[in-house]
Amino acid sequence: MTDGLKLHARGAAFVLICAATVAPLRSAAQERATGSTAREDAAAAAAAAAVITPEDFDRRIRVIADDSMRGRNTPSPELDKTAAWIAEEFSRVGLRGGGDGGGFLQRYPLEAVRLDIAASRVRASSGRELRFGVDVVPLFGAPPDVETTGGVVLVSGSMDVEGTLPESLIAGNHAVVVRDRRRGGLDRSLFRIVGALRAAHAASVSVTDWSDDAGWAAGSARAQRPAVRLADGAQQSGLLLLRVRGASLARLLQPTGVSVDELTARAGQAVRADLVEGLTLTVRTRVTSRPTSAPNVVGILEGRDPRLKDEYVVFSGHMDHVGVGRPDASGDSIYNGADDDASGTVTVIEVARAMAALHPRPRRSMIFLTVSGEEKGLWGSRYFVEHPPVALDRIVADLNADMVGRNWSDTIVAIGKEHSDLGATLARVDAAHPELHMNAIDDRWPQENFYRRSDHFNFARRGVPILFFFNGTHEDYHRPGDEPDKINAEKASRIAKLLFYLGVEIADADRRPQWNPESYRQIVAPGRR
Ligand SMILES: [Zn+2]
Repeated sequence: MTDGLKLHARGAAFVLICAATVAPLRSAAQERATGSTAREDAAAAAAAAAVITPEDFDRRIRVIADDSMRGRNTPSPELDKTAAWIAEEFSRVGLRGGGDGGGFLQRYPLEAVRLDIAASRVRASSGRELRFGVDVVPLFGAPPDVETTGGVVLVSGSMDVEGTLPESLIAGNHAVVVRDRRRGGLDRSLFRIVGALRAAHAASVSVTDWSDDAGWAAGSARAQRPAVRLADGAQQSGLLLLRVRGASLARLLQPTGVSVDELTARAGQAVRADLVEGLTLTVRTRVTSRPTSAPNVVGILEGRDPRLKDEYVVFSGHMDHVGVGRPDASGDSIYNGADDDASGTVTVIEVARAMAALHPRPRRSMIFLTVSGEEKGLWGSRYFVEHPPVALDRIVADLNADMVGRNWSDTIVAIGKEHSDLGATLARVDAAHPELHMNAIDDRWPQENFYRRSDHFNFARRGVPILFFFNGTHEDYHRPGDEPDKINAEKASRIAKLLFYLGVEIADADRRPQWNPESYRQIVAPGRR
């Protein structure tokens, strides 16, 4: 599960309930094979599902989320090791590679970028300068490579701006957000105001930082570390976001007579944007870049129906996590990501094993997909939908599992039920399998926007109906404590079985899953522009 604030920060261009009526319909799975009886089919499915056991689930979680995998950062040698291990699992059960050159790995291009401190600067028309690393640093990550001259607009007052800011004043100028001295960190109000300035076409956005020398030094060191980004040109042309020391800004503005103290004193009053008379800034950033890459793992299981096998059901989970970071109170610095998302990754592997054990095969084909770069901004899934091994309109559904190993033992949230008839299909399959003791419920946290915060969203916005299985966050979310010992493998194995039965149902149905028209208009149509 990716961080919500990060999505806001990127200004991602991608930024509801049918009653779960349990119709007494005969399940397609109950009559899946010509010539066999419903009872025989159900027995075959149950035998295949029995391949999934809590012990196997637990063992695989302990491989992927082991300390030796060092949190599976994107990119990292340990992520590559994880991908190779998953490819081996797929190969062992007889899947065919859907990656590069017929193998299981699909690699996508990244670049490791670093700000060239010496070659970057901010120079005012008054002759005063801000030095990178000393007075100013990137707000996060490496900045885009820019050189631009414009006026200076100071934004002050309440940062809880809901509406827009005057484009005539801001477009082409460098915006400096002068924040209340007590306010630090990256919060939602900051992202809202950055979003408003981006929309008004600011040349750059700087945010004041009032931390003490030690705090600034630590933040500055963090901001200068190399950053990895997609090598797709999108971020290179993005908005330049900087953090500027309050005292350095005061020195820069001193010849103009503008008082930073007066501006910070406006905290709580209505937001205001003021152009500084007679001052222009030339901002130049230079970054150095080195190409790198990261893997997805793609395994394909061929369907048996000559007509429908050209359609695919995708099962997805992200194998990456956030790597090694700030230690917790116990000194543990490895972010194991056992729930996030070794649990979903193992779910994909377990469903693949069960599906490969099912005879006769489902009618449609299936793609088992473990992606990376999810925590960085849904990179791997985005690359996959832009470079799919089969035409994207042949993918009839994506069933994504991200964080399915913690919290309730008998309940799983299925996000996106209301957007397509997959919701009704899930309700039917769930009701047909009371032995799983797993209640698939609606999104409990719509305000958290989880629909847009994991890999299924890249499928949804390109027109593929999805369901997203998710047990909610917890105190170990994106912390070193997300450890294998805390995973309820017995519960997760029942969720994997539910996905298995659901996948069989979707793959065997005469008609592919259908969007609800209003959802299609809201989710897919804007992305197609
Ligand atoms: Zn996450």
